[in-house]
Amino acid sequence: MKPSINTTLPITHCCPACGLLCDDLVLNSTYPLSIKNACTKSISFFERAFTGKAATSSVAGKPTDLNSAIQAAANILNKANHPLFAGLGTEVQGMRAIMRLAEKTSATLDHMHSEGTVRNTLAMQNSGWQTTTLTEIKNRADVILAIGTDIVSSYPRFFEKLVLNTNTLFNRPKPEVIYLGLAEEAAKLPEIMSALNALMNAKNPLNKKPDTDLIGGVTIASLKLILAKLKAAQYGVVVWSASALKFPQAELTVQSITQLIAKLNETNRVAGLPLNSGDGDSSVNNTSTWLSGYPTRNRFVNGHPEYDAYHFSTKLQLMNCDALLWVSTFNAYLPPDCEAPTIVIGHPDMQFKKQPDVFIPVGIPGVDHIGTMFRMDSSVAMPLKKLHETELPSLSDVVNRIVSQIEAKLS
Ligand code: SF4
Repeated sequence: MKPSINTTLPITHCCPACGLLCDDLVLNSTYPLSIKNACTKSISFFERAFTGKAATSSVAGKPTDLNSAIQAAANILNKANHPLFAGLGTEVQGMRAIMRLAEKTSATLDHMHSEGTVRNTLAMQNSGWQTTTLTEIKNRADVILAIGTDIVSSYPRFFEKLVLNTNTLFNRPKPEVIYLGLAEEAAKLPEIMSALNALMNAKNPLNKKPDTDLIGGVTIASLKLILAKLKAAQYGVVVWSASALKFPQAELTVQSITQLIAKLNETNRVAGLPLNSGDGDSSVNNTSTWLSGYPTRNRFVNGHPEYDAYHFSTKLQLMNCDALLWVSTFNAYLPPDCEAPTIVIGHPDMQFKKQPDVFIPVGIPGVDHIGTMFRMDSSVAMPLKKLHETELPSLSDVVNRIVSQIEAKLS
């Protein structure tokens, strides 16, 4: 793909490479790209978007024109009775089009990062939660407890934007940051979270154990100190990443975290911040919820939405589906192996080991076309700008044309 930016002036830009959606990037007009305020993750996102290999549509591995590829995709979906739409790495407009196609084809929908999202959803559905926004953290947080995550691996500028930033509303001092159970120790978190909840109860026998005793590798004294800091905080924040909790029934640990937050709120102000996993997961799940009443792991049956957080997973549906539509527009993630006919619509730099039945390269949101994304706290929807001209259609263009082909066949 020939790199080119149409504007000759640097422009401020919103970065879609992680859920923070930093809107202070400044891109210059010449190539190689020079990006101000970028992190390594955003640099690699934009570099790949501008320098990736040129891609054309293909059917059965043979290059073809866009119209033929769209017709081939529509033919596959017309024949399918229970297709699976997975990956779903897209933004709001792309997901709106996908939902329309799913309704026409009775497809099951699942985002590539649902495994983590579902852990949060189950905890929230069961007992509710109290969460906060990035703006509140920047302006008010004085204690931040990060559970099972270092935060920066997935959100490289989190500390720069929210912890070290002195441009705040209330001149708050730099918050204290406490890490508890980093990713490699995540399996011990159920025990640690249960202990923290127990220690919140003054009459619990755990309070009488020696402070030197270890629970999940952490001394009782350390757990008591964490609780004391959260109890003394003016605005405490508990951060977790459900995608890092890779052990059975991890939703119960999320629930332990939300229970602790609820208990702390009886006497002072503490809020949660569940980190998302990217690839448009917040945008996709919000769009799905307002259009169908459910986040992904949903489907339409005769136009009626259904939701099943377990049975509608990609892993299980791959065994039963009779067509797979894989969507990944931000990153060149490849589809999972599937026996059924496979359509891939996504990033133009995808390098397949096994050619799908249909491949349609599309533009990258926030690079090749405009779009809208929800920030990871779901409180703000950010506009994405188009950076350069491209021949590539957007995902929503392609999906709407597949819908038209299917409607024409039905009429
Ligand atoms: S922290 Fe995230 S949104 Fe901000 S520049 Fe880096 S990748 Fe982009």
